Amino acid sequence: MARTDTLTGLNNRLAFSEFSELVSKQALRYLHRYCVLMIDIDYFKRINDRYGHSTGDNVIRDVGRAIKDNFRSTDIVGRVGGEEFSVILPETKISNAIYITEKLRTNIECLVFHANNEKIKITVSIGIAEYTCNGESIESITKYADKALYTAKRSGRNRLMVYKP
Ligand code: GH3
Ligand code: MG
Ligand code: MG
Repeated sequence: MARTDTLTGLNNRLAFSEFSELVSKQALRYLHRYCVLMIDIDYFKRINDRYGHSTGDNVIRDVGRAIKDNFRSTDIVGRVGGEEFSVILPETKISNAIYITEKLRTNIECLVFHANNEKIKITVSIGIAEYTCNGESIESITKYADKALYTAKRSGRNRLMVYKP
């Protein structure tokens, strides 16, 4: 339980970072690629403010499930912040990562939540960075994914941005 996030059932920050280290070591050793995703719910504060914290929690839980269901069982999904998730796609090149992640983005766009007799729709912004077998640490790749996420937010949200070195 110390490794599981109680709201979503996903890896918590600690478990996620341990898995990251493992993927990173294997990639370094066997010259494998991987991609890191950072996913953040757009304008999430508004959901809490308008509909209350427990509706907010439902949204986080369902987004977590949508993320988990979208990827392979060998991919690593974690809740790394309040409404922030990260995914590591081992052995995956960037073109495939973009394809599958774009599917996730549109799936989340289609989710409908109900509160106060209203329909609530949400979106996510996503940053992706690829490890290209150049010996960089997973901390660096994660930082790049975070930068790309920030660019996605600044460019209007509900989009996927790939980190370009
Ligand atoms: P942006 O589009 O820039 O991401 O806007 P945002 O409103 O999502 O901004 P921000 O990331 O600052 O807001 C996150 C909010 O998530 C703030 C915090 O109150 C809320 N939050 C964090 N953890 C939880 C949680 O476990 N449950 C609920 N309901 N809310 C949470
Ligand atoms: Mg947010
Ligand atoms: Mg956030």
